[in-house]
Amino acid sequence: MTDEELHRHLVGRQGSRRDLNTPVLVIDRDALDRNIARMAGFAAANGLKLRPHSKTHKSADVARRQIAAGAVGQCCAKLGEAEALADAGIAGLLITSPVISTPAIERLVALNERAEGLMCVADNPHGARAIAAAVAARGARPLTLLIDVDPGIHRTGVASPEAAVELYRTIAAEPMLRYAGVQYYCGSQQHIESFAERAAAMHDRAAYLRSVIAALEAAGGKPPIVSGGGTGTHRIDATLDLFTELQVGSYIFMDDQYRVCALTAEEGEIPYETALLVDTRVISANSPGLVTVDAGIKSLATDAKPPLVNAGAAEGTVYFFMGDEQGALVHPAGDPPALDTIVSLNAPHCDPTVNLYDTYHVVSGNTLVDLWPVTARGRSR
Ligand code: PLP
Ligand code: MN
Repeated sequence: MTDEELHRHLVGRQGSRRDLNTPVLVIDRDALDRNIARMAGFAAANGLKLRPHSKTHKSADVARRQIAAGAVGQCCAKLGEAEALADAGIAGLLITSPVISTPAIERLVALNERAEGLMCVADNPHGARAIAAAVAARGARPLTLLIDVDPGIHRTGVASPEAAVELYRTIAAEPMLRYAGVQYYCGSQQHIESFAERAAAMHDRAAYLRSVIAALEAAGGKPPIVSGGGTGTHRIDATLDLFTELQVGSYIFMDDQYRVCALTAEEGEIPYETALLVDTRVISANSPGLVTVDAGIKSLATDAKPPLVNAGAAEGTVYFFMGDEQGALVHPAGDPPALDTIVSLNAPHCDPTVNLYDTYHVVSGNTLVDLWPVTARGRSR
């Protein structure tokens, strides 16, 4: 039996999570659904639309659940991600990075013919004009653009109010383009540990965005959409009277990076739960106080701290990377789990961890309830 056949065979059987071949990427479905409902309720209570970022989950199944709970669509980091979700039937996509190369613009224009409600950001008049020319050459429908505004991280976005106005004028002058507003994602503010400092930083960044919006308004380009916000700042973002929609991503899974930030914040506990785990198995136990599990660098993102143990090992057990294929579990009092034990690790950083797997193993407690493909895995271009 192949892995896929074995795992399909196990769906719905009590205790089946234990029999999966490891390592596996696991979604705790009940926690996931609570996270979806909480953020949907938060956005609705604050009069904001919700367009969650699918860079986190890359999954048409998760997107459908978010949309069923009220989301207006999905953000996509890259064109390839948007193609994958659109072809799985997801509408209302916003591509949050500029699309620049000639072949990519061709694909973008083609996608716009089949994806209802598609929008893309631009941060440069040259890019906007290239898109307009491609739409015209193909005789295709006009493409809707948001102006990406750089909050000061120098990643993407126009770098000044004047540059925003120049790009607005370019878009407004092109019959093949539609102007829909601005995007403003404050990436470096998300993980400021102190809530008071995070709020102060966001109020400062909001003042800058207000100056950009004022310049756009003066030029006749009042933005109908102001899209932004992240998991770390969403409670602050909602109080700024600035955004029309939130593009939060990580709340869906709450990785350790965000959990650590949430736990040290004075704002009180963030009500989102860990919903993404990597189940790994003890495959060797021949050294005192240390056992080896089958999840290493190829199974867990490595840009964050090593993963925390969620279940299956005594309190205080610590994971260390041991290389590409393995990790070690060490217990301070010398009581690591036994051979063949399943140990669940929290995803250290959800987005890059997800991209390492083809399939989500969806569980409710210890029962495998479904297999969902990672629809846009590897679609980074
Ligand atoms: N919007 C953009 C442009 C992003 O790059 C990201 C994440 O990197 C998000 C939204 C989602 O943010 P978070 O994961 O902090 O909720
Ligand atoms: Mn991330």
